[in-house]
Amino acid sequence: MTLTTEIPPIVARLRAAFASGRTKPIAWRRAQLRALRRLLTEERTTLEQALRTDLGKSPVEAHTTEIGFVVNEIDHTLRHLASWLRPQRVSVPLALAPAKARRVREPLGTVLIVSPWNYPVNLSLAPLVGAIAAGNAALVKPSELAPATSAALAELVPRYLDAEAVAVVEGGVLESTALLEERFDHIFYTGNGAVARIVMAAAVKHLTPVTLELGGKSPVVVEPGVDLATTARRLAWGKFTNAGQTCVAPDYVLAVGGTAEPLQRELAAAITEMFGDDPARSADYGRIVNERHFDRLTALLESGTVVAGGRHDRGELYIAPTVLGGVDPDSAVMSEEIFGPILPIVEIPDLDAAIAFVNEHDKPLALYGFTNSEETKRRLTTETSSGGLAFGLPVAHLAVPELPFGGVGDSGMGAYHSVASVDTFSHTKSVLDKSLFMDTMKVAYAPITDLKEKL
Ligand code: NAD
Repeated sequence: MTLTTEIPPIVARLRAAFASGRTKPIAWRRAQLRALRRLLTEERTTLEQALRTDLGKSPVEAHTTEIGFVVNEIDHTLRHLASWLRPQRVSVPLALAPAKARRVREPLGTVLIVSPWNYPVNLSLAPLVGAIAAGNAALVKPSELAPATSAALAELVPRYLDAEAVAVVEGGVLESTALLEERFDHIFYTGNGAVARIVMAAAVKHLTPVTLELGGKSPVVVEPGVDLATTARRLAWGKFTNAGQTCVAPDYVLAVGGTAEPLQRELAAAITEMFGDDPARSADYGRIVNERHFDRLTALLESGTVVAGGRHDRGELYIAPTVLGGVDPDSAVMSEEIFGPILPIVEIPDLDAAIAFVNEHDKPLALYGFTNSEETKRRLTTETSSGGLAFGLPVAHLAVPELPFGGVGDSGMGAYHSVASVDTFSHTKSVLDKSLFMDTMKVAYAPITDLKEKL
């Protein structure tokens, strides 16, 4: 745990490093990204163990959703960085010619990254990739609710990266509050909306721009006629990875026109296929982060009829992959983000009602559609608003590097991944360059009435 008295000198060190210019050369950025890649590959086992301790994550899941995910992000960034950073020439209006104009990226300065517990490696280091790629000094504050991963990052990051310009501060509310007292040039926060409001209020003091990567309920619309067995497998995969503790996990299903019952049967079969008869014994199934979330989640089981799963064990922080049928849209499970392995199925008569339902609620981080109809895809695209939209497969839009990842409205503001990260952590400076040779601006100078004489 970092002492709050240590925070101001750490921030001062980072600011001095940025002011010295050391983070700006592309060579420094590349070297740091390669060092971060080495950290992830050489210390893979340490990180996997920490993720197992914090969340019961299997090594395979730890790799695909966290460690390998960030490695891919680094590789993609290293491949494209030079072209992303190249100044872009833009045309100049005739009245200003001859002149040159270009857009030039500059780093923002010293940035703060505050991350949550559910993907503690990914959500701490993927934003860091963007911050470094854009040439910033950066401070990462991992979540205290994933303490083993937080400790591993605090130990490893300074060993591999330039400790003058990149730091990890460990801690919870006290330390975060102390950090938010400091001046940063950007705050990148991932977590819940209540804390996002605290972060944004703190940012006001220094007029610091913020990116807020939040959550909410991500709905799924399932239409009749689709292959329900495949739909169920993909939903089970998206929902029960990390025991449902994924910001873009399918939160609930709007089962259109009689699809609810057959879908529930297919979901039950898919769960058994993936995790066996007793998912508690599956090496691939994770655990709930702590007792508070366990108690919150088990209370939600009252909101419907358990049609699959439902077993839970507080001592093990285990909740089976669960499907709830006959769910009332006004019940508790439908009133807050579930963020756990419970999938409610709500019956809805038609697409119009499904679209109206989505639009009556907060703008989701993701919306998923399972349909054979291009018209339905068009309607979901144009008649609803969400951070991301995916047809036929949940969650995986995050793995498409050139798709910016972020929310809208209650699910957040700003985006990242790939070039969107560089956009987030840079300022695009407008540069106009007009030669002093021959004064073509004479027509603009007062007195304007003498225009003819000037020409
Ligand atoms: P959390 O409790 O770990 O909190 C997130 C961070 O906020 C932590 O680093 C924590 O120390 C800090 N924090 C807590 N209280 C604070 C305070 N008073 N002042 C300043 N900082 C404070 O994680 P969480 O918020 O429970 O995360 C889950 C939420 O995050 C869900 O809503 C989920 O959907 C969302 N989420 C979003 C994304 C995304 O990329 N959009 C990713 C993961 C999670």
